[in-house]
Amino acid sequence: MADAPHAFQKCLSPNCGKTYDIGQVLVACPACGELLDVKYDWDQVRPPSSWKEIEANWSRRDNPLNFSGVWRFRSLFPYATDEQIVTLGEGQTLLQQTDRVGQYVGLDSGKLHLQYEGMNPSGSFKDNGMTAAFSHAHIVGAKRAACASTGNTSASLAMYCSVTQLMKAVIFIGSGKISYGKLSQALDYGALTLQISGDFDDAMARVKEVTKDLGIYLVNSVNPFRLEGQKSVMFRVLEALRWEPPDWIVVPGGNLGNSSAFGKAFAELKELGLITRIPRLAVINAGGADTLDQLYNKHNLRWNGGHFDKDLINGYYQTMDETGAKASTLASAIEINRPVNLTKCLRALHDCDGVVRQVNDQEIMDAKSQVGSGGMGCEPASAASVAGAKMLREEGVIAPSDRVVCILTGHLLKDPNATVAYHTTDQDYFNQILGSRGVKRAAHANRAVAVKNELADIVTAIQLYG
Ligand SMILES: *Cc1c(COP(=O)(O)O)cnc(C)c1O
Ligand SMILES: [Zn+2]
Repeated sequence: MADAPHAFQKCLSPNCGKTYDIGQVLVACPACGELLDVKYDWDQVRPPSSWKEIEANWSRRDNPLNFSGVWRFRSLFPYATDEQIVTLGEGQTLLQQTDRVGQYVGLDSGKLHLQYEGMNPSGSFKDNGMTAAFSHAHIVGAKRAACASTGNTSASLAMYCSVTQLMKAVIFIGSGKISYGKLSQALDYGALTLQISGDFDDAMARVKEVTKDLGIYLVNSVNPFRLEGQKSVMFRVLEALRWEPPDWIVVPGGNLGNSSAFGKAFAELKELGLITRIPRLAVINAGGADTLDQLYNKHNLRWNGGHFDKDLINGYYQTMDETGAKASTLASAIEINRPVNLTKCLRALHDCDGVVRQVNDQEIMDAKSQVGSGGMGCEPASAASVAGAKMLREEGVIAPSDRVVCILTGHLLKDPNATVAYHTTDQDYFNQILGSRGVKRAAHANRAVAVKNELADIVTAIQLYG
């Protein structure tokens, strides 16, 4: 962009490190195939010198860019001019301190915070990144935008297209792999929805092909601009904590866009002198989709200054293919075989002294019920963060006195089937939705009470159970 000569794209591989103009539409380095970062020349564009400067935007929120919980931090990712930005008021989210859930995790009073990204306009954190990628798509004049999705990316893209009418959405989803809450959004927002036989990874491979062939703008998290917007989740967490970094950020890991964005955010804030200490990062896989956990903990894959072991990764994927191993978890948003941001996440884990764990569907559903009864609830994938924090607490990796922030990535209503199945008295329905996934019991189920439509019976029920 002539408007933003201080921003550019850069290959993350230190062996290559080639740079590209901000106006180019790329999802990988054309020279070596690695992922790209958006970078800034901070000598040419003055970064904010204090949080006060950023806080000042909040008092000017009659400007939609300052109202946005993403764009009021835009001086920390200045690749677009104000006129170029497309915003729908995303990022109005809340950091809630909760002792009820904190007790479940095993933390001292006052130490657990939940970051509710389900409060975004399409109901998940994806809007933080979508507004950023969508703005870039708008800058380069895209007419159509596409994604492969387990549901929330497609809901978000479809919403930005329907509200702004700037582009048409093309959505690739795996068959039978999307919850009704998310599918209903894509359909209602009028997106062209292609349900292909296969799972997310199959859809991802196809959408890469198709977007390249047809020149359609790709908004999956391989898109480096998406991650710039997702950095703002951490800016808001810091803001809510009066700019004092917590000890831990715990986040579910699917395609690893969030964890990668969070790592980049903290590395940059430290470089700019806006923070002096970087929180530790915990990335939590679902047991049925544990590629990162396997590679990181079992095979000891590390960032290694950018010289990570590519053969190890490729060999692991090859074995997955040969054995027909397929991701399977009811946390559908993180049901991923080959996380597209794996290498960026390795860098984040290095920069944030990170750890990786996996939790099973039973642990996820139990944790989810706790987030519901002690907070505003979340979808299954989001609860992996709380289940993971509990596990790390039990291991002694997280101390009871540590300040912990769990990221709740998606809204409770995204996947009502899983929630109702957990609380139901209908054993068949429980088995169909949860039992088939290895969930054996619903320890924290809140059963609906069947009662005759008689005043006396109703009064008795309230006295008995209330
Ligand atoms: C997309 C998504 C995730 C996974 O995030 P990544 O950045 O791909 O790791 C987790 N939870 C929900 C609700 C999601 O929509
Ligand atoms: Zn490269």
